[in-house]
Amino acid sequence: MSVSHPSASRIIERCDALARCSEQADGLTRTYLSSEQRAANALVLSWMAEAGMTAGLDAAGNAVGRYEGERPGLPCLMLGSHLDTVRDAGKYDGMLGVVTGIECVAALSARGERLPFAVEVVGFADEEGVRFNATLLGSHAVAGTFDPSNLDRVDAVGKTMREAMREFGLDPARIGTAARRREDVLAYAELHIEQGPVLEAEGLPVGVVTAINGGNRLAIEMAGMAGHAGTVPMRLRRDALAAAAECVLAVERIAGSEPELVGTVGKIEALPGAINVIPGRVRFSLDMRAPTDAAREAALAKARSTFAEIADRRGLTLGIRPVWEARTALCARWLQDQLGAAVEGDGIALRRLPSGAGHDGMAMIAIADIGMLFVRCKDGISHNPAESITHEDAAVAARVFLRFIERFEPKRAR
Ligand SMILES: [Zn+2]
Repeated sequence: MSVSHPSASRIIERCDALARCSEQADGLTRTYLSSEQRAANALVLSWMAEAGMTAGLDAAGNAVGRYEGERPGLPCLMLGSHLDTVRDAGKYDGMLGVVTGIECVAALSARGERLPFAVEVVGFADEEGVRFNATLLGSHAVAGTFDPSNLDRVDAVGKTMREAMREFGLDPARIGTAARRREDVLAYAELHIEQGPVLEAEGLPVGVVTAINGGNRLAIEMAGMAGHAGTVPMRLRRDALAAAAECVLAVERIAGSEPELVGTVGKIEALPGAINVIPGRVRFSLDMRAPTDAAREAALAKARSTFAEIADRRGLTLGIRPVWEARTALCARWLQDQLGAAVEGDGIALRRLPSGAGHDGMAMIAIADIGMLFVRCKDGISHNPAESITHEDAAVAARVFLRFIERFEPKRAR
């Protein structure tokens, strides 16, 4: 049955159907190039075709649907999100954006409405990076920034990505053909659950994303002197764990000094790790994220100098090793404004907020301006089977997203 407005029931049902394509019997896990992904792709491609799109897999295994504009071959507004999941995932992270994009196109198609641009929906094959420990593989392929050395990565059973692609029916030598040209993509817009508690706390169903926060991950090691817990007097100790405790509190203080800066020490290990031994060595992690690179870099510099001061004062050595870094991906102001107008058009107060989690837009920004619409999720829970949204919020989000699509004006024409 074709309907001219998005159906929240169908969105929820389709997320449920995708959740049944799972590698684990008692929950949801779906990784890159798995047979479960093949099953999910088949569903998505059939829904795309049903919505009046031409649909197929690209050379990286992304599901791509295209709804032509007023005449064939026009540049597109690209809508997308990912179809892979983390282990023991929820049903909406990624999938909601793909399914809602298709639902919006189905509404246009049911009315026979053609826009002055094409609309494409992409279900990215890998964003989470679970199987090969490299994230955003699908969107990097579309953006033309896929690193071919990824093909040599192996999964947990020693299979290379190259072999897995061949078994899936893809030719690894052709992955470059998945790349799209900047002039063919007017903008990239993604609808995604918030994965945080801000919208819920403010009683809002949707919000407009300002930036996908950049981040740094560091591995820190401090070394002092191990010793007998009973015989070494306090003033003669060089306790690495006590120093690390100071560092953890410093991170909390530094991150708390800026409104949208977050810093976390999520892992700590004291060595040798015995009840009667003064810890001589400690290793801990630092994850720091912010919506602007300037704020993040300033906070990181502050953390480094504070750690150095603590180590120095306590007579410890300090080693800091960068593990990962991503720059902030700013959502284009003009797309924020058009998404914002669609939100307000539904009578909803406009809330702009940064994304603390990574998204496909971080790769897509290489070829197009990006924008994101966040949807409230229950208790801000994500990457967890308890992930949940309401039927009502799915309806509001789809309505707002469709309004954004219908009124979309490319930047160059404005
Ligand atoms: Zn996601």
